Amino acid sequence: MRLNDRLTTHWDTLKADELRHLQGKRLHGFLKNHVVPFSGYYGKAFHDAGLDPDEIRTVEDLTKLPFSSKRTLISSEDGTPLTRDFVLVPDEKILARRPATILRAMRHGREAVKTGFEKEYRPILMTSTTGRSADPIPFLYTQHDLDILALTGRRMMEVCDSRPEFRHLNLFPFAPHLAFWQAHYAGIGYNTFTLSTGGGKVMGTEGNVRLLGKINPDALIGMPTFIYHVLQVAVEKGLHCPKIRRIVLGGEKVPEGLRRKLRTLCAELGSGKVEVMATYGFTEAKMAFPECPSHGGDATGYHLYPDLGIVEVIDPESGEVVPDGEPGEIVFTPLESRGSVVLRYRTGDLISEGLTHEACPACGGRMPRLMGRISRVSDVRRMNIGKVKGTLVNFNELENVLDDLPEVGTWQIELRKRNNDPLESDEIVVHVAPTGRVDGEMLESLITERFLAATEISPNRIEFHDAADLRRRHGVGKALKEEKVIDRRDETALTGEKPSTPISHHEVS
Ligand SMILES: [Zn+2]
Repeated sequence: MRLNDRLTTHWDTLKADELRHLQGKRLHGFLKNHVVPFSGYYGKAFHDAGLDPDEIRTVEDLTKLPFSSKRTLISSEDGTPLTRDFVLVPDEKILARRPATILRAMRHGREAVKTGFEKEYRPILMTSTTGRSADPIPFLYTQHDLDILALTGRRMMEVCDSRPEFRHLNLFPFAPHLAFWQAHYAGIGYNTFTLSTGGGKVMGTEGNVRLLGKINPDALIGMPTFIYHVLQVAVEKGLHCPKIRRIVLGGEKVPEGLRRKLRTLCAELGSGKVEVMATYGFTEAKMAFPECPSHGGDATGYHLYPDLGIVEVIDPESGEVVPDGEPGEIVFTPLESRGSVVLRYRTGDLISEGLTHEACPACGGRMPRLMGRISRVSDVRRMNIGKVKGTLVNFNELENVLDDLPEVGTWQIELRKRNNDPLESDEIVVHVAPTGRVDGEMLESLITERFLAATEISPNRIEFHDAADLRRRHGVGKALKEEKVIDRRDETALTGEKPSTPISHHEVS
């Protein structure tokens, strides 16, 4: 395997300066040998800018490259995805001239060389973005990329301190999305039993609960709210699942309060100590980064794979790279990808405590980590409340407020127009399924108080429901992303649309 030849076995032990040296070398090779000659978009972009890949040899040189974003990936005319422009399509004449190709052909024959290139460059799997507003943007994987997906999967298992003899239950919805495939290939890469249920969409909450009882898993992998629903129903049914020791979450933010609730549910199912860990991944990276077990301490941050990609944190307004420990927007550049490749991709995700290169206090790993809470620029929405027009409300904060309240089981925030009149002001209705018996009035004033403290607005109404009712509202089993904040004000104009100007992180964090 060519990939294995190049793998850095000590990827998690290198010091910061050694890492940057390695990354600089890889970046240069990646641009010179793969991206510039074989990417329609970047070949032209480098040519137009008069830029030579030989001018980019260090991590600092990255700043010579322009950023990309969701907007770069779609046509400015009609908004359709520019998929092919970003796929590496090899030029056989260029490949044939390379000394490495000639050497390999002499050793293994021309046929082996041809098969090798097909594995490296032919797209065989596709995932796409989950955006609710725009066209999904496809991202293509070659066999080489799937080898990386299995490798990052194996690393996730190792960082999360799984064991090959564990039984893993993958509850991500079956879909052409990174989360499902990353979890599937984690099982392959780690050579461990992993049952993918397909999530609620494929077999409903009931089906997942049944498998939970049958498999008696050691580890659960999936979306936080869905796993919460499944565990809750399992408790209602009086199931006994004494072996759960790890819950690995992806696809959504995971506030401390939700982790606590998941651990409580596991205890009710008879499990002992359970480590709840979050992962962070996105379509354009084609990989996901995990936390390691915190053993009851603070969250350990997302452990990155520095040999496979460079993560920068930038000031979202100026675009300048910020020093370690400072908040900003997460930007990603792959170092080993084939298929779809974008460079310096602006994720639109803000990280509250930035990057660190300090060794992890929990696992000792020296890989860089992203620290703190992740929030999405698009979760900051403009609201017209009362007479005040255009107040920016950070729904990331409100989600944390609700998840951190132990009396709140599940919830949904609904944005609507007063009296359903489009000319009226906006309203916030909070739907809550309380945990057990609670004093409604007390909980109502508690939620209002916390809302005010976090965002200086208060909900117009708080409605109580039972857990099953809220599951229906979330579209569990139907929607791919649980609808935790639902915007019914003007479905066409506002849902999920990113603001055209970036909002400074000072306003949103
Ligand atoms: Zn760690």
